[in-house]
Amino acid sequence: MKYTSTRDGSVSVSSALAIAKGLSDDGGLFVPESIPKITKDNLKAYVGMKYSDLAFEIFKLYLTDFTDEEIAHAVNNAYGDNFDDGIIRLSQIDNGPVSLELWHGPTCAFKDMALQVLPYLMTISAEKVLGAASALGAASALGAAASAGGGKETLILVATSGDTGKAALEGFKDVPGTRIMVFYPENGVSEMQKRQMVTQEGSNVGVCAVNGNFDDCQNAVKDIFTDAKIKSALAQKNIVLSSANSINWGRLLPQIVYYIYAYVQLSQKGHSKINIAVPTGNFGNILAAYFAKEMGLPVGKLICASNSNNVLTDFINSGVYNRNREFVSTVSPSMDILISSNLERLLYLLSDRDDKKIAQWFGELKNKGEYRVPDALKNKINDLFYGGFCDETMTMKTVKSVFDEHRELLDTHTAVAFKVYEDYVLKTGDKTLTVIASTANPYKFVNAVFTSLEIDEHSVNKADEFEKAEIIERLTGVKMPGALRQTKDKEIRFNQTFEKHELANAVMEFI
Ligand SMILES: *Cc1c(COP(=O)(O)O)cnc(C)c1O
Repeated sequence: MKYTSTRDGSVSVSSALAIAKGLSDDGGLFVPESIPKITKDNLKAYVGMKYSDLAFEIFKLYLTDFTDEEIAHAVNNAYGDNFDDGIIRLSQIDNGPVSLELWHGPTCAFKDMALQVLPYLMTISAEKVLGAASALGAASALGAAASAGGGKETLILVATSGDTGKAALEGFKDVPGTRIMVFYPENGVSEMQKRQMVTQEGSNVGVCAVNGNFDDCQNAVKDIFTDAKIKSALAQKNIVLSSANSINWGRLLPQIVYYIYAYVQLSQKGHSKINIAVPTGNFGNILAAYFAKEMGLPVGKLICASNSNNVLTDFINSGVYNRNREFVSTVSPSMDILISSNLERLLYLLSDRDDKKIAQWFGELKNKGEYRVPDALKNKINDLFYGGFCDETMTMKTVKSVFDEHRELLDTHTAVAFKVYEDYVLKTGDKTLTVIASTANPYKFVNAVFTSLEIDEHSVNKADEFEKAEIIERLTGVKMPGALRQTKDKEIRFNQTFEKHELANAVMEFI
């Protein structure tokens, strides 16, 4: 299996190189040259498999330049005791949709599903293609001795809307041969998300607040990737850049697995087809669901749910992608994004791999903030996807109504998907069992969840996040995860804020 670039079809690289680099030199994203298929027999064989074993089977189809031993090493270490509740949990909300809880990892958001395994994939890849220090040796001793001298070091740059940053820091902390630097929008993440990041432990980590929004962070990181001056400065220090954002194929691949795992479990209960609803920001999680469908998983509609930053809803319904609009800071901050990077992969695949068109459209996006796709392509998108959005008031109302009616406590992102799913059913009458990707533990967004629940207590106005969490616990019986509670007493290690144009300098200082 080779990987090509969405902006240059003549590119053909191994999966190891695609993962080690993150982004193609032409600015395009890596995509597999073909999508492997899974058959009904495969699906039968997956019944009863452990999560890590299923991940092994799916990874093997895409990482053909990895040995079985390397893949097994990665998945067995990534999907173990660091997760609770059997890695992921499926719970049907009364007789309605199924909540696919993807937040049982160390940082309590679905990002752990990919970022617990990415460091293994990345160190193995780096060894294969960059001559870095022995990855198997290094990765198996996570947190142990630094990589042997002479090997190249990988510097991972991450732009985050809150959850990726923490999950990436946790995944890469003290991984030999790597350093990681995270950029988050100073006022664009929840208090809990910020506390999780600024108290991060580890000797190879850096965390920077940015005076800007997520798109500013992501654009700055993309620019650093194509900045020849920085690259040569890094090369002199024997450092290569990579990305842990969902522009990296190594982030997307692990996300395909849980949709297949969910289907296999539901098929055991007699369901033969599912819809999938995903609260969407950078279009990574829902793109993974699309890949699962293209591989042959019996999936009907893909329901793409946005918050008030509804650029994707408009795109799906009009064929025009227009980021020239106000950026709204919402109660679902991890979806506050106007440039959904992974859409590029979908458009590439649906336009029969027309690299010239992709380069043109994304050039227009960069220069004019807008592009339009032809009707034929828009129709293809509409066959596959339903696009809807849910504003702030409705998001909070949904958190409350789902709790009141079903005793299920959703975080604000998952609530967006729940509401858009309900709208979809009302509009279409489609009764297909729907899996809703539940992307974060509600306690990551304590303030918003607290306000949503309209808790009437006199102490409320003065309460801090942890006091609010206690009140929610008492009221709902849902416990706050220890990993979040513990941030209260941790030392703050990072408190610098940077302007957008200073990020390149911050990187140089860090190394
Ligand atoms: C990242 C994130 C999303 C959006 O996922 P994408 O892959 O960027 O579309 C949704 N919800 C939560 C809680 C997240 O952290």
